[in-house]
Amino acid sequence: MNQAKKIPLAFQKRKITAEIVEPVGIPAKKPVEIRTDPITGRKCRITFARAKEAESGDSSFPEPPPGANNTASCPFCRPQLYKRTPMLAASLSESPRLEHGESVLFPNLFPYGRYSAVSVFDNNHFVEIGTASPSSYTDCFINCGNYLKKVREADREAIYLAITQNHLPSAGGSLIHPHLQVHADRIPANIPRFLEQRTTDYHAKTGHLLFSDYLAHELEDKTRLIGRTGDWHWLAAFAPEGFYEIWAILPGVVSLLGMNENHWQDLAAGVINTQKFYRSLNYNGYNLGLLAVEQENSRLEIRLRILVRSNFDQWSRNDHTGFEVMLGDMATFSAPEQTATMARKFW
Ligand SMILES: [Zn+2]
Repeated sequence: MNQAKKIPLAFQKRKITAEIVEPVGIPAKKPVEIRTDPITGRKCRITFARAKEAESGDSSFPEPPPGANNTASCPFCRPQLYKRTPMLAASLSESPRLEHGESVLFPNLFPYGRYSAVSVFDNNHFVEIGTASPSSYTDCFINCGNYLKKVREADREAIYLAITQNHLPSAGGSLIHPHLQVHADRIPANIPRFLEQRTTDYHAKTGHLLFSDYLAHELEDKTRLIGRTGDWHWLAAFAPEGFYEIWAILPGVVSLLGMNENHWQDLAAGVINTQKFYRSLNYNGYNLGLLAVEQENSRLEIRLRILVRSNFDQWSRNDHTGFEVMLGDMATFSAPEQTATMARKFW
């Protein structure tokens, strides 16, 4: 009870029931839970009835995608990477591409913003979910961090930083060769814009950091905790906006550029644990993202989000239906507490 007073965040759950008559003529009550994310105020629905319905393409682990062996035509495979990928502007970097370990970073040929880059993991063309080496992830993350440092040195106004991944075309990836996208801009995208305001207002009102308070609630509640890797706390999202959505919170750290090698290493370990969990559910594609507002008084702590996407299968059902696109509530099928229970064994 004291905790509820100390942390002014509402973890709202509302259970409703839809009454129907089953095709065989038996009356049935179908439970639906509506949750509100304490961070965003956005609602999601857990439609438990749907969990029993088979989804196309996830009854077994998918075959490798076409082109899994086609290294010759891949612009991210070496040696052609050095001929077919663009180079950094001289105003940003003395070297045309950034290298850290096996990772190579270069500008995105199709930029999303003022500073838009791609960081390739290594020379392995197709890496099945859950099988990447921790060092390849760590090096790739550090390479992204090094690029963002250069951007910040060149442009003090580009404070909206992010790192994202679309693993496989089902998650929006255009090339199967594992890579991360790196973004920096003076103009925030919708989510960082909202989070900047929300965390600033929350701090002004309470003197607390929002994600630290969210985490404090979850540490006490325990039902959605998954595990730790170093300073990162891994937990199932209370009100997910994607299937099996997992968050990793780095409490008290508000700067992507301030992260040290251990932070990146521990993040890589947790991402690979998550991938192994997703693989156990027969999913092979996911999105991940972490972002920061890189300025001195930022109250937005570093948090990674990662969620599964529908398998790419001919005529598979997309995971965003009219309900998500037109009404705006994500409808998932399983409770986050169940996600946490299933994921814990991978930590
Ligand atoms: Zn390749």
